[in-house]
Amino acid sequence: MPSYSKIDLHTHSNKSDGELSPYDLVTKASNNGIQMLALTDHDTVSGLSDAKKTAVKKNINFINGIELSTQWDNKTIHIVGLNIEPENALIIKACEKLKVLRKQRAKKISRKLSKVGITGAYEYTKKLAVNGNITRFHFAQFLIENKYAKNQTAVFKNYLVKGKPGYVSANWPNLIETINLINTIGGVAVIAHPLRYKITPTKLHKLIDEFKRCGGKAIEVITSHNISKEITTVSSYAKKYNLAASIGSDFHNESVSWNRLGELPLLPESLIPVWKLWNKNN
Ligand code: AMP
Ligand code: MN
Ligand code: MN
Ligand code: MN
Repeated sequence: MPSYSKIDLHTHSNKSDGELSPYDLVTKASNNGIQMLALTDHDTVSGLSDAKKTAVKKNINFINGIELSTQWDNKTIHIVGLNIEPENALIIKACEKLKVLRKQRAKKISRKLSKVGITGAYEYTKKLAVNGNITRFHFAQFLIENKYAKNQTAVFKNYLVKGKPGYVSANWPNLIETINLINTIGGVAVIAHPLRYKITPTKLHKLIDEFKRCGGKAIEVITSHNISKEITTVSSYAKKYNLAASIGSDFHNESVSWNRLGELPLLPESLIPVWKLWNKNN
């Protein structure tokens, strides 16, 4: 039996594009042996209070988190904020702005899809996104459920990406602004899934270097894809840039086999775990 980590600092609920309610997510995490959990919904803190309440009942160490969409060098980069103050007016305001951006983008995506004969996407995705934060994940669901694509992989190959129907360029807040916000609300900024961006290694180094210089503190070393070569690569980045290491499944739902809750490998012992950063201040 492999030894799994009891820590998961990157998960989604149905307040963004996950399947489970915050209550069900925390319950499932608890049943699967998780002892420290962060909920990190895309651009919203609306699930945190329910998740926290459930975590207290289940005796789980709950970390308030968020996954913020940012723009860097014409690319969308995801920055996870951990141990943030969820009631801080600055994050509430930022989330409201992001919700508007998401709504505008969803309408644009829908218009683009209708140009190739795919109609009704906005109305459909609006119903799927219970909290009003419409993501491309919801559009993927729409396309699959209406037989335009057979799975998520096919959607992100044939639709919603550059050069394909339904593509819209993003205009998220920039990286520096996002790191500053996370630091101001007491959090730790983490580069999410660093090997999932379609950028060259040189560009990735540039991103990590800039992230660090802007006040970013950690990088996800253990993410949803975990082949040991990738863990070694990202561990070397953590050391080179003196960043703490985070760990998170990026769990959205059960149907994707590689992101089950409670089955992540352990963080390499040679790295500084990200939770040491907030324990220091307690
Ligand atoms: P958005 O933040 O609206 O651009 O949506 C991004 C979300 O779409 C991600 O958080 C994933 O949930 C999903 N997603 C993006 N790319 C893929 C992919 N290649 N395969 C499966 N899901 C994806
Ligand atoms: Mn997502
Ligand atoms: Mn992400
Ligand atoms: Mn995520």
